[in-house]
Amino acid sequence: MHKIDMDLVEMTLDVMKYAIDRISSSKIKIGKPKRAEELKALVGETVTDKGIGGEYAFNLWKKHLAKANVPVDHPRNLAFVPAAPTRTAIMFDLVTSASSIHGAYWMEGAGGIFCENEAMSWIVSLTGLPEGAFGVFTSGGTAANLSAMVTAREHWRENDIFKREKGLIITSIGAHSSIKAMAKVIDVDVHLVETEDVLSGVELQDAIDNLTADERKRLFAVVGTGGTTNAGIIDDLDSIANICKQEKLWFHVDAAYGGGALAADSVRHLFKGIEKADSITIDPHKWMFSPYDCGAVIYKDMQLAKNAHSQEGSYLDIFKDEGAHGFNPTDYQIQLTRRVRGLPLWFSLAANGTDKYKEAVERGLELAQIAGRLIDEDPNVELVRTPSLSCVLYRRIGWKPEDYTHWTYENHKKGFALVTPTKWKNGDDFETVSRFCFINPDTTEGDIRAILDSMA
Ligand SMILES: *Cc1c(COP(=O)(O)O)cnc(C)c1O
Repeated sequence: MHKIDMDLVEMTLDVMKYAIDRISSSKIKIGKPKRAEELKALVGETVTDKGIGGEYAFNLWKKHLAKANVPVDHPRNLAFVPAAPTRTAIMFDLVTSASSIHGAYWMEGAGGIFCENEAMSWIVSLTGLPEGAFGVFTSGGTAANLSAMVTAREHWRENDIFKREKGLIITSIGAHSSIKAMAKVIDVDVHLVETEDVLSGVELQDAIDNLTADERKRLFAVVGTGGTTNAGIIDDLDSIANICKQEKLWFHVDAAYGGGALAADSVRHLFKGIEKADSITIDPHKWMFSPYDCGAVIYKDMQLAKNAHSQEGSYLDIFKDEGAHGFNPTDYQIQLTRRVRGLPLWFSLAANGTDKYKEAVERGLELAQIAGRLIDEDPNVELVRTPSLSCVLYRRIGWKPEDYTHWTYENHKKGFALVTPTKWKNGDDFETVSRFCFINPDTTEGDIRAILDSMA
């Protein structure tokens, strides 16, 4: 399979050309999913005894399969949390793949891990955490949240009194679904404070005071959000941090989406208190322009992460020998074998400089302000709340939930835009509203105007 022959050279060139075309094209299509049966009918059997040949398989990809994806970097894809990886990062993602680096241990991946750590140092510096804090790249925010929650729980259980207790964490309903999902994985309970708006220290203290004695004993951590996924809301991290300190609770900040905004001078002050966190999640594959997948978990005290995550195994001992001194990413998160997924980010940071990152994040924030202004000026629509970070929630006056769904579907079908509705808690009810999330700095005011016009 590894013998270099002319066919392989040609295919390599074809694939490279395709990749270059894809990242340099300004006219990518918005794409649309098809049912699995439809795709099967279009491409037939692809995995066979003898193989169908690279050229044929690649043509199937180009002709049918590539089109059945919805690229997140389209400038009018404002659904969920989109993405916009830099060209330099994407090109280095190819290099990362071609280099076959096992990213678990310094002994095997020193060069790659060194680069990852250079990028991580910059991210950690944005948080303002004290000397000694550091982090590691994960497959995403979910894995980062899980790694942090395991560390918190294991640290809590070092105390014999809690050894057999089932843990409890407090967060708000604005927190991301992965917090609840990962709490299930580690079998801890979640107490939800009933606010989708800013969670403050006062509400947290109130929630703690209202726990039963058993629940209070089991409470070991609080999760604040640094930019809710739905609305971009940043909890009052400073007052939450102070209460966590008083109550001796682990303070985790989930800034998977919002973390990129730590680089933006215009909003950095909104994250005050994040520097007091015990752990932080940030997803470079969201607002730090990395290709999928790239998350990050950061700890104030790396030793606690190591105590929780370091794997034992006699065949692994060699990696821990004296000759290999160095940083072993496996020791600080849930994965053993891992891609050096911070490497594309490093190359892009090194090539472009961190100022470019600041500017690109500021542009996302500016787009949200522009959208807010256009919505104010348009009699058909109104803001549900002031834009936070790069999220804008607004309603089309007079629309029912099915009108939003129909509009989303029509715009997507035409290949024009992907803007999806969401729900916003309005008193005791959940109202269906429209939502923009801006990441891509290439989105224009014209794009926003055209999307709003399509609601007329
Ligand atoms: C997206 C997101 C997550 C989950 O991250 P993945 O990378 O999708 O696993 C967690 N928390 C928040 C706040 C998010 O926005």
